[in-house]
Amino acid sequence: MLRLALPNKGRLSEDAKSLLADAGLEVRASSERALVASLGGELEAIFVRAPDIPEFVADGAADVGITGWDLVRESTRPVESLLDLGFGKCRLVVAVREESPVRSVGDLPDCSRVASVFPRLTQEFFDLSGKRIELVAISGAAEVAPHLGIADVILDLTSTGSTMRVNGLREIATVFESTARLIVAREGTGRAPKGERRRSLTELVAALRSVLDARGQRYVMANVPRERLPDVRRILPGISGPTVIDVMNGGSKVAVHAVCAAAGIYRTLNALKEIGAEGILVTRIERLMA
Ligand code: AMP
Repeated sequence: MLRLALPNKGRLSEDAKSLLADAGLEVRASSERALVASLGGELEAIFVRAPDIPEFVADGAADVGITGWDLVRESTRPVESLLDLGFGKCRLVVAVREESPVRSVGDLPDCSRVASVFPRLTQEFFDLSGKRIELVAISGAAEVAPHLGIADVILDLTSTGSTMRVNGLREIATVFESTARLIVAREGTGRAPKGERRRSLTELVAALRSVLDARGQRYVMANVPRERLPDVRRILPGISGPTVIDVMNGGSKVAVHAVCAAAGIYRTLNALKEIGAEGILVTRIERLMA
């Protein structure tokens, strides 16, 4: 059995389960609050707190885990990222009160009080910036700390920036960007999966990667005038060139099929229209193994 540690609640939990479901690994739990569930085949999930997952994976209590890269960095446990899962995108930022004269980290007075739920990353960031600080380690709601007078500065996660603005805070620096990752114990620690479990892990990575690759792509189909095929090749590059299929319409039109990047697809469709394409269809792709 390959044991996968998943966040039991919070922002990353639903996205992790839906990624697995898209890869054909539906979480089959006996109840909503079950601590262990089967994912079918040789895979089993355990549900734990997202910040504990680096520890569980490093200790070998789980073979593999899904958690935020911010939590991995803060934990300092010897684990590595096998896949960037794309969801849970956020930035760890330094912020001050809106009305503060401080514009950059360099403007901060020595020994400013900095509140964060990431004490290790906070200390590391200010050590590298050559700033002495007074660290205020808290367990949540850092955004209120400046208003309560317990800190002048915070290091906190943000994705849209709206929580910062609503709380009257202004970003002055980005420490790093984070996303959810698939993690395993680092090679050489003796905890990385071996033998059969290594094989199951390779299959899990391939299944998840095929879903992630498919998410950014669409399958486009259209009927185009046969004489415009050279233009089609330019507009729809496809994985190894577009597929061209005869249409029973007397030969004046052919059907073309290709995989295209989802970003900017509207431009692709407009370009197809301009060369006289008809019956354009765009569908999502479940999995893509190029
Ligand atoms: P939770 O607090 O359990 O909902 O999960 C927090 C984790 O979700 C963080 O450690 C990040 O990895 C991730 N995350 C993604 N976007 C955000 C955000 N805007 N604020 C806080 N955490 C986020």
